[in-house]
Parts: sequence; C-alpha cells; structure tokens
Amino acid sequence: MTAEPSRDSPLPHAAASPVMAQYHEIKAAHPGCLLFFRMGDFFELFFEDAQAAASALDIALTKRGRHDGADIPMCGVPVHTADSYLARLIRAGFKVAICEQIEDPAEARRRGGKAVVKRAVVRVVTAGTLTEDGLLDARRNNYLAGIAEVGGELGLAWLDLSTGAFSLAPSAEASLAADLARIMPGEILLPERLLARSSLNELFGDWKGALTPLANPRFDSEAARRRLEGFYGVKALDGFGHFGRAEIAAAGALVDYVALTQQAGGHGRAPHLAPPVRVAPEAVMQIDAATRRNLELATTLSGERRGSLIATIDRTLTGPGARLLAEQLAAPLTAPDAIGARLDAVQFFLDRADQRAALRQRLRRCPDIERALTRLSLGRGGPRDLAALRDGLGQTALIRGILLAPGLVPLPALLARAEAGLGDHGALVDRLQRALAAELPLVARDGGFIATHYAPELDQLRELRDESRRTIAALQARYAEATGVASLRIRHNNVIGYYIEVSAANVERLGGTLGPAFIHRQTMAGALRYTTVELGELASKIASAADRALALELRLFDDLTGEIIAGRPEIAAAATALATLDVAASHAECAAESGWTRPEVAPGTTLEITGGRHPTVEAALAGSASFIANDCVLGEDRIWLVTGPNMAGKSTFLRQNALILILAQIGSFVPARRARIGIVDRLYSRVGAADDLARGRSTFMVEMVETAAILNQAGPNSFVILDEIGRGTATYDGLSIAWAALEHLHDVNRCRALFATHYHELTALAAKLPALACHTMRVKEWQGDVVFLHEVAPGTADRSYGIHVARLAGLPKAVTGRAEEVLAILEKGDESGALARLADDLPLFRASRRAAPEPAPRASPLEDLLREVQPDELSPREALELLYRLKAMREE
Ligand code: ADP
Ligand code: MG
Repeated sequence: MTAEPSRDSPLPHAAASPVMAQYHEIKAAHPGCLLFFRMGDFFELFFEDAQAAASALDIALTKRGRHDGADIPMCGVPVHTADSYLARLIRAGFKVAICEQIEDPAEARRRGGKAVVKRAVVRVVTAGTLTEDGLLDARRNNYLAGIAEVGGELGLAWLDLSTGAFSLAPSAEASLAADLARIMPGEILLPERLLARSSLNELFGDWKGALTPLANPRFDSEAARRRLEGFYGVKALDGFGHFGRAEIAAAGALVDYVALTQQAGGHGRAPHLAPPVRVAPEAVMQIDAATRRNLELATTLSGERRGSLIATIDRTLTGPGARLLAEQLAAPLTAPDAIGARLDAVQFFLDRADQRAALRQRLRRCPDIERALTRLSLGRGGPRDLAALRDGLGQTALIRGILLAPGLVPLPALLARAEAGLGDHGALVDRLQRALAAELPLVARDGGFIATHYAPELDQLRELRDESRRTIAALQARYAEATGVASLRIRHNNVIGYYIEVSAANVERLGGTLGPAFIHRQTMAGALRYTTVELGELASKIASAADRALALELRLFDDLTGEIIAGRPEIAAAATALATLDVAASHAECAAESGWTRPEVAPGTTLEITGGRHPTVEAALAGSASFIANDCVLGEDRIWLVTGPNMAGKSTFLRQNALILILAQIGSFVPARRARIGIVDRLYSRVGAADDLARGRSTFMVEMVETAAILNQAGPNSFVILDEIGRGTATYDGLSIAWAALEHLHDVNRCRALFATHYHELTALAAKLPALACHTMRVKEWQGDVVFLHEVAPGTADRSYGIHVARLAGLPKAVTGRAEEVLAILEKGDESGALARLADDLPLFRASRRAAPEPAPRASPLEDLLREVQPDELSPREALELLYRLKAMREE
C-alpha cells in the first residue's frame, strides 16, 4: 500500500491541522475503504467518505472546518451503535477501515498541547470477515472464499472467520459456478488475471458485489504454502491432507487477507482457524446454481427464506445447528455409509420422543458458543460472550445425561461421537458461574461484570468506592445543614469531577459567600460551584478505588478469556457436537410432525418413490386441501415423459422427486410412504422459459444455455428434471428441440430423468426409446369443465386443455370461443385453406356477434330434480330420503 495522499486530500499534509494530517496519512494507507475515524464517542467520516456514507446510511451530512478554501464534508456515527451502521454499509458493498484511538487522550495531553492522540486502523471490516452477531445471520455461515489458478487448474478455499471453519477443494471452469453456489460466499478474493478472463465473465457478473480482486502475486502457490505452514506451525501441510497447488494458493491468499484485515498493523489478535479440510468433489452431490434456485432450496424464486425447502425442514434451536443444517442441505452426500450414519442418528431420536424433547429443551438454552469463542479469541469478545460459554457449556453435562440415560441402547456412531465431543467443562463453567455478575454490560471496558465474592480484592476496592460515595452523601447533608441551604447538592461530571452546587439566589441570600472552607470553582448561569479540601480528598479516594477496581476487573476478564482460549479445541468440539445433535433432533422432529419415512439409499440407479409428496407445497396446502401423493418408479424405464394440462401438477411432481432425493442424501427422512434411492451424483433442474430479465438475457437463450449444460454434463448417475423445455420459442422449433434433447438424454447421457411437456406429440417417442415411459396427470372432464386430480398415471394426455385453463382464468368468452374454432381447424391439419378463411373472417365483428347469445349450459339431472322439489310438501322423512338421493346422484 502506498503512502501518497489519497484523492481526498488536495492539500499537502503540512497545510492541514495535525489531526487532519493524521487522517490523511491513515486514509491513504487504506485505499478502497471508508475510514471510520475515532474521535471521542464517535466514528467520524470526512470528504468523499462522508458523502458516500451519509447517502448510504441516510444520515446528516455536516461539515467540520475548512480545507483548501472549501468546507470539509463530515458525518459521524456514535461508537456504541456503530455496529448497525457498519452492517448497512457492508451490505451496501463498502469495506470499512476502523481507526481507533490507541492511547489514552490524557497521555497525548501529557506530551504537549499540540500532540495528537495516536490512532491506528485496528481492523478492516469486509463482507467476508465479519464476526459480530449484529452483522451476521445467525442461521447461515458467512464465508470468505478465494479462487486461484496454478498450472491451468483452479483451486478454491473458503473459511468462516466467525467459526474458524476452513475448507479447500479443487475446481474447474465448468464447475466453478456450481461450487460457488454451494458455498454462497459473502466475499470472493481472486487474482486480477482471472477477473479479466472472458470465459468467466458471466459467472463473475453474478457475483459482482462480492468480488475483491487482488494483485496476481498474492496468489503465488509457493508463498502460500510457506504462509500456511507458518500459520499452523507445521513443517508440511501433508498432515492435513493432500492439496493441489491451486487450492493452496487460494488458501494462502485467504490467510494473508485475514491477517491484513483483522490484525491490521499488528493491532489485533491472530484469528483462530481450524486446520484446513479437503472437500473431495465426488463426495458431494453437484447441484448448479440454476437448479438450486429452481428447486428453491435455500430461498424461493423471489429471494425469501420463507417457503424454501430449508425453511420447511429447519427445526433446529441453535445458531450452530441451523448453520450445520444449511451447510448439509447445500451439499448432499454421495457415500451411502455417511448418509446411513446420519439416518441412524435421526432414527434414534425419532424412536425416542422423550429423549428428543428433553434434548431440545436443553438446546433451547444453548447460546451460540461457536461465535462467542471466536470473538473472544480475536480480542473482540465481551462479558456476554463469557456468559454464552457459561450457559452453552453448562448444558453439555446435562445433555450427556440425556444421551446416556440408563436402559438406553448403545448410541449410533454419529451420536456416540457427539457424546464424546461434548467434553467435560465442569471446572470452566463453575468458574464462569462464580465470576460473572447477574446483569452483564455489552463491553468489558467500563467494568461492572464481575460478581461479588469472586475476587476478595475487587470486593474491597468496590467497598471503598461505595463507602466513599456514602460519605459524600453524608457530607452533602452536613453542608446543607451548616449553611441552611437545603437545595445544596454535591454532583459529579467528567470535566471537573465532584463539586458542590448552590443556586445563585441562595448564595446571595447568604451574603455572597459560603465561608472560607468553600473554594470557588465555576460560575454557571444561575448557579455556583465550589469544592472543599474534604470533598477533594474523598473524590480522589473514590477515583483511585474505582480505577483500581476497573483495572482488576479487566485483568480478571483477560484471565477468563485466556483460560477459554487455552481450552479452545475442546470448546470447539463441544460446539460441533451440540450442532450435530441439534440437526439430528431437528430431522427427527420434522419426520415426526409430518409423517416422513426413512429412505433407503442403495447403490445402483434405482429410484422407487411410493406415495411421494412435495414438502413445501404440502406444507403450504396444510389445512386447506390435502396433497395427493404420487409414485415415481424409475427402473427399466429410466425416463418418464409426463404430459398433462397446465395446472395439473406436473411441475410439482417433478420437483418433489428431486427434493426427496436431496433430503435422502443429506440424511433426512423424506415425505413419501417408501423411498429407495440409488445415489445421485449430479442433479439438474430446468424450467422452460424462466424469465431472467435481471441478467439481461433472452429467456429462450437462458433456457438453451442451461439445457446445453445438462446435455453436456449429465452422466448415468445423474438425475435430471426438465420442465417444459422448448416452451420459449415457436411450436415446431420448440417441439423439435424437446424431441432431440429427449433422444440425447436417453441414448447419450443415459441418466434418470423426468421430462414434463405440453407437446403431447413427444409421446410418439415412447415407441422408439425403450427406456422411456409415458405418464400423464389425470383430469376429469365434466360438463365442459376440467377437474385436476393431481394424480400421475401411466398413459398420455390427449390434449392440452389450454383453453379450459384460459376460461378458468377469466378470458372473455368471445376469445375462448374463437380459440376453440381455431383449434378445431388446426387439429384437422388443414392449415392453409381453413386458416386463411378464418383470418378473412374478421374476429372483431364476430366477437360482437358472438358475445350475446351464449348458449345456456344444459342443466344437470341434479338441478332438474332440485327445480321440481316443493319443500313445503315434503314430510321430514321424505326430505331425508331426498337428501340421500341427491347425494347419491352427486356421487355418480
Ligand atoms: P403444472 O406444472 O402442471 O402446470 P403445477 O405443478 O404448477 O402444475 O401445479 C399447480 C397447482 O396445483 C400447485 O400450485 C398446487 O397448488 C396444486 N397441486 C399440484 N400438485 C398437487 C398435488 N399432488 N396435490 C394437491 N395439489 C397439487
Ligand atoms: Mg408447470
């Protein structure tokens, strides 16, 4: 970083005031950041920073002094509420350098009148390096990711500074988008060289707000290796796993950046990072960004969490549990053993409702110890973080008791491991319980968080302080009595300390003086302030006792923090164990509530789902209508062609099977009567003509790009759902593309697939493609109306019923009537002649002609009967019989 003046400072430093000179120097060392410049109880921003922040935060832009003949724009935020402003700035895409006063202003004053308080940037806050609860979503990880390229290979690394989790994986241009969609980083570091690559243009366009390009040399793999070895204090990284050079380069850049932003200039503590873990690409189901969006896994298409799959299944009670669940949902497993182990844990809690309830009762009282631990490690923690550890770790022993209740069968492996991970924190919990006061301040700075009886020395100092305060109260009473001024008060402020205040009127009444013992300090409007030798002595006693008490409290805080940091691995293990238990119990809770069953995961490419339901659609219907369960059995027939009218439930059916697969492979129970699933390694979901105006591409182009990805990548273990592909273009175009794509899936990709279409012409392919089976959504037609049964049955739809749906939607009768005419001619295949004649026949005139005589619909027998009935002439018995008859007719 250079030391040249930033653009903000047109004047050379010499011309500025000393504080401004200091400001310019620090500002210049942090290009690209807003500078939060600490001045007393505020963080101030100046010049362009002030203008940018004031408009982003919608706060007042003021000015402070003049610079080069112009006012200096300024705005400020109070230190104690800075977090919420920071959050908004980070969300708006800014980076913020926090510049603190790193010495007591009193010290600066001692150096002389002109001396400026020493300041330094203690931290740079960026979207990927947040640790504060106020800035983070408790239920999601916030990753800082890095991409590097070495020898033509791409590598990825990602870490969550708030928890210390650190992962590495190889990547490739083709899979980078899917990898990033899985990780969902808040910030991505990448070399400028990659940013300039045209083949990645589009991808980086999607992540524009999160990119932090850095100079290419920061991604040097050898330097990175040395940096990582140094960071972990190891001779070689091999102990952690075998990493590619690109992965190491990415990881090195991350560690570098973390040091730069968190310990800026050595003013912060080194963050804790868990040893890096390698994520093998084949260990997780590959799901690309479009599929995730489309299946509404983490958010709905409109971007909300409500209504997404995660919102439907998440019953976790703790932040770490919620984050683990989100993590697992983003990366379904592919190893049957690992999936089976998770399912065993869920089964355990499903079978033991009492244990589950007891566990969840305990989890409810567990604060987020993972993030509290990190803040304490970074020197950013407060008394409430200590309390979080006291409360969270305090539950571990009780939870162990629940897991090991006498008479229970041995725990399944995953839970046994969690039980061991809970550890033994009795001594620490006991110490924190004794140490912490009942009411805790947010920051340690001002003291007042250590309980009485914990440190006798502290108790003594506090007693001294409080005793002196009582003496002052007595002194006030004595002075009031002696002078006869009942309103005489002894007060305190930060500028002159303790003083005696008497209103001007009273002083005059006493003849302008209170006697020689009262030494005049200040004259205010309407009041005079005095002190006495006695008061001065008492004041200094109080001050020194308070100072010593505060210093002692801060030392005790550091001791406690030190003890916690020393036990960090055990505490982190406990946090992981609690999260694991939370997730397993959450799945069990969900399964119990919604009647879900345990899926069988099997090798091979079977897929047998009987009585499957769509988890979120079913949840949304709950109460109003019941969801119709459907089977999906892919065996010999690998591909199902699903036809049926609009609104019949095709899309729902396709998606529910994909969601059931995902749920099974994350180790959750599934909404089906029975599910046997051969592991899926890649999942694709595409919808025809999904609007994607936000990205500025034609919808049909998007559809084709996405279809291309599937046809190029899907393999025999993939599962593909294609929903009305080809819908975005003219009929014959679309039909031909759908036709060819289906053949390709069948012959080349040879994957399992569900293909929904409104082109019933495609059903002809069933004769030619042996692994293709036709299914249709059943509908019932009754008196010209269509009733959707939402049932999937073998067979083909004979028509699209588009006009029926149009009628349901309220298109004018003239239009639907005309459409029926056109359709009749088209279906006869006589297009040239009849269509031309139709076109001659101006629809406008016809419309006015036809609108009037709408033929009355033929009355049903039910209606005929009702019309004949004379209620007054029926006996009660006849009335009852009639009722039965009506009901029977309705049933027919
Ligand atoms: P399509 O794709 O055939 O046009 P959708 O799958 O979008 O139809 O379904 C339309 C609506 O029908 C859904 O929003 C849902 O309310 C309802 N629906 C679909 N499937 C079912 C089902 N199996 N049981 C009950 N209602 C369903
Ligand atoms: Mg649909």
